[in-house]
Formats: sequence, C-alpha cells, structure tokens
Amino acid sequence: MKDIIFDNFQNDVNESLLRHRSILDIMTKLTESNSRVNRALAKAVTDCGCISIYAKKQDIPSKIGELINSKNHSENTQKSNDEVNIDLDNESLSQQLTHQIEGNLCNNCREIIENEIGNNIFYLTSLCNSLDLNLYDILLKEENKINILGKYTFR
Ligand SMILES: [Zn+2]
Repeated sequence: MKDIIFDNFQNDVNESLLRHRSILDIMTKLTESNSRVNRALAKAVTDCGCISIYAKKQDIPSKIGELINSKNHSENTQKSNDEVNIDLDNESLSQQLTHQIEGNLCNNCREIIENEIGNNIFYLTSLCNSLDLNLYDILLKEENKINILGKYTFR
C-alpha cells in the first residue's frame, strides 16, 4: 500500500514538472528549496519568535565519543559496540542529547515550514525521476540500513 502511495506521488511529480525539467534546473531547484526550508526555520526564530534555539556542545558520554572516533577501526568495533550498548541502555542517550529548541512552532510557522519541506521533497523526487531511481526503494534501503546498524550509525 505504502509503495503505491510513493509510486503515485513519483508519477504525479513527473507529470507536473514541465518548465524545470532539465537536470540542471532540478539540481538547483533542489538546493534552493533546501535553503528555503532553513530560511523558514530561521524566520520562526528571528521574525515570529515561537521557537528559540539554544545551541551548545552536546554532552556525549565518553565511551560513545570514543566509539565515534574509532568508528573506522574495524578491529575494535565489535567490542566497543558491546560496551556502548550497556551505556545506551543505562543512560537513555536520546534524553540526554536534545534538539536544542525551546518552544513550539505556531500554526503559521508550521504551515510555512511544511510547505517548504513539501517543495523540497518535490524536487528530490524530480531528481529521482530524472535518474530513474525509485523513491520507495531508497526509503526501504535506508530503513534497512538503520535497522541493521541501529544506534551505532551515529549520524
Ligand atoms: Zn511562529
């Protein structure tokens, strides 16, 4: 069912994109739409004020920091993963690491940001169309990657 929704969306995007069909237009529109998402978010902070950003260095437990640093040294990875698993369970890492946002989006800002994200997804889908890539397949691959590597991907 979900794959049908994705495929329908991908077809609809393909049929509705006429004027900016060149890959150059799609590439630059994708970048522009991404900037507009960030701009809308910045304006929610600086113009509207419904949310505030209080960014600082995140307090990452030292064992996890070590694992991130040694991620590419495969001989230590398995041992480190086991150690980190204990820490993650005990320390509820996701509660320690925050988005550093205070407040909630007002309805107006939410609508603007949703609209810009939708526009961004439109051009991302257009990029997939131009390269004959299937959006749903990409989503599944990404989901599998998360499920296999789990919390140890550290993005
Ligand atoms: Zn707002």
